[in-house]
Amino acid sequence: IMLLTKKMIEIRAILSRVQESEALQLPSIVVIGSQSSGKSSVLEAIVGHEFLPKGSNMVTRRPIELTLINTPDSASEYGEFPALNMGKITDFSMIQRTLTELNLAVPEKECISDDPIQLHIYSPNVPDLNLTDLPGYIQVSSHDQPIALKTKIQKLCEKYIQPPNIILAISAADVDLANSSALRASRRVDPQGERTIGVITKMDLVDPIRGYNVLNNKEYPLSMGYVGVITRAPSGGLFRRSSRVGELVSANESAFFSQAPEYNGCEVGTNLLKEKLMYTLEKTLAKSLIPTFDAVQQELEEATYMFKVEYNDRSLTPSTYLASSLDAFKQAFKDFSKSFDRDEVKNLLRCELDQRVLDLLAQRYWNKPIVELQNMTVGDFAQDVPLSKLSTASNDDPHWQRKLDASTSTLTKLGIGRLSTNLVINSLVSDMERLTSNTSFAGHPFAYQTIHDAASSLLNMRYYSTAEQVENCIKPFKYEIDMDDREWAHARDHSYVLLKEELRQCEQALSSLKSNIGSRKLSQVMTFVDKTREQRMNGNSVVTPAEGTEAYGFSAALLQKGREGLFLKDRTEVLKMRMAAIKSRQCKNKDNKYNCPEIFLNVVADKMTQTAVLFLNVELLNDFYHNFPRELDMRFGQNLTKDQIDKFAKEDPKIKRHIELQERKELLDEALHKIKDVIALQGARERGELGQ
Ligand code: GDP
Repeated sequence: IMLLTKKMIEIRAILSRVQESEALQLPSIVVIGSQSSGKSSVLEAIVGHEFLPKGSNMVTRRPIELTLINTPDSASEYGEFPALNMGKITDFSMIQRTLTELNLAVPEKECISDDPIQLHIYSPNVPDLNLTDLPGYIQVSSHDQPIALKTKIQKLCEKYIQPPNIILAISAADVDLANSSALRASRRVDPQGERTIGVITKMDLVDPIRGYNVLNNKEYPLSMGYVGVITRAPSGGLFRRSSRVGELVSANESAFFSQAPEYNGCEVGTNLLKEKLMYTLEKTLAKSLIPTFDAVQQELEEATYMFKVEYNDRSLTPSTYLASSLDAFKQAFKDFSKSFDRDEVKNLLRCELDQRVLDLLAQRYWNKPIVELQNMTVGDFAQDVPLSKLSTASNDDPHWQRKLDASTSTLTKLGIGRLSTNLVINSLVSDMERLTSNTSFAGHPFAYQTIHDAASSLLNMRYYSTAEQVENCIKPFKYEIDMDDREWAHARDHSYVLLKEELRQCEQALSSLKSNIGSRKLSQVMTFVDKTREQRMNGNSVVTPAEGTEAYGFSAALLQKGREGLFLKDRTEVLKMRMAAIKSRQCKNKDNKYNCPEIFLNVVADKMTQTAVLFLNVELLNDFYHNFPRELDMRFGQNLTKDQIDKFAKEDPKIKRHIELQERKELLDEALHKIKDVIALQGARERGELGQ
């Protein structure tokens, strides 16, 4: 007979995993009663253990969906919270503590939460049953039990006592049944008393005649009747606790009832209650088989149709999704590794060094106007050789020799090892991010992080050794630069292009300054700044306006623009002059390097780049291209649990919908098959093909 409930427990578990499955819920036994009616004691008597939260202030704040699973072949008794991942709990006081914590976790303001706690208990001593324990009705609101709590409890119970659920209405024998909150609530939703089982607790507190009258009350007759129980031993009385901690003794209960002849023919005792519950649940479940089958079938048809229409029946699970995303990324990476080769690294590094060369030149050669603008003293300025002299200076002028040697040394000692290694690492890491955003990993913060971490950790592992190798190899350039005519000619063309671009940028900046403040105004303020500059160079003191004030009608901000404009104008002139110099006959010859610092520094930068790239390629790139895909396999493969993969896939809302619809379809399908089996079994039993 118990086969059905057992099977239905399985089906219930499947259906509870179906998203939005409110309509698919199987009937359950819901337990209501006012506080202190003995509700907890009844549930504990059925389970055979103390496991519910206790304490005068302990109001149950969440429904507990209690699934009892009879395990006839195993002596061990344990509980499981399917949602909590705590494993098997054999210590029932641990279950009690966990339930207390879950209760206390409901915020004070919310009072009561609708979200049920699921608890499964496996034992050879429990019947197969589903019971939902609801918060006890509270009688009087006191300070620490606000009115809101009372109404919330009522509302929650109201939701659960709807058909087809069976109501287990608990009332204490020593309280007038007319005042029983449980019976009043059940009468409202089940006026004919067809799906309510009355439980009268504390039968030991009333004499047998009153007890008899309570159990046979005609006030609210129930077709399933009233069961009288004694579930808690009054201290020092006839009843005693079992020596095994927490286990309750029911033997004395039957002794009590058998003493009084009044209870002959009455339904009394916890064992009888258990059987009645099993029988009633089984009958109710049997009745719900066909309607549930129809409902599941309808949901399944709906889900199947949607799956076809929206996803063309394309199967998708979290792990296949992860695998295909990873494959796609690795393919993209392979294509990338072909495009990001030695030449790319060279370009990257060359651009960086070109900038360094330009900065050096600006700082050491083209610096007159900048230095002046930074209020260089007149004396310093006079000592310096004017730039215009550079092209005509003789090649062994020590001033220009020192200048170029110092510049070269700055360039070769700038720490190209670390600079270039950093440059390539940063570029690769950001390229990996860009690649990620072009694949289906794009919607996944987790994937971004994992790819980023994998790339940085692999690359950073090679950082020091690569930087050192590169630095060692360019070491000779710190002492001597050998070059041939071809290299010179090449560098000459290249520096001309660089200067031309620099000139373009200067001119562009100047023209945007013009359009910003008007070309007349700009030229006025530039003239003014120029004049004060000359005065200062001649040793006259000039009054510069403080920040925010005005001088000669120009605000400080405008003066700043004027300085900027003048700087750009000067710089443009210098650049034009140097471009002419580079083109000149003199700079065609590499022996005139002191007169053509732009070209020579270019030669140096080129040599450094060539050498650095060689080692970056071997030490960093090849290693990365080889190991990165393996690292990804490890981080996305072996290292992830099923839950993590699931969470990953569902990060993307589109994928989440797809996967969930598929899961829903599969779960419904599984449930439907099981229900079909149960119906067939039921049919066979009714036709007498199977023994009871
Ligand atoms: P709940 O608040 O409805 O869960 O009620 P409890 O199960 O906590 O019981 C309330 C009080 O009634 C406790 O002090 C129990 O010891 C006591 N109690 C429960 N069942 C019985 C019983 O059968 N007989 C007697 N005398 N007391 C009981």
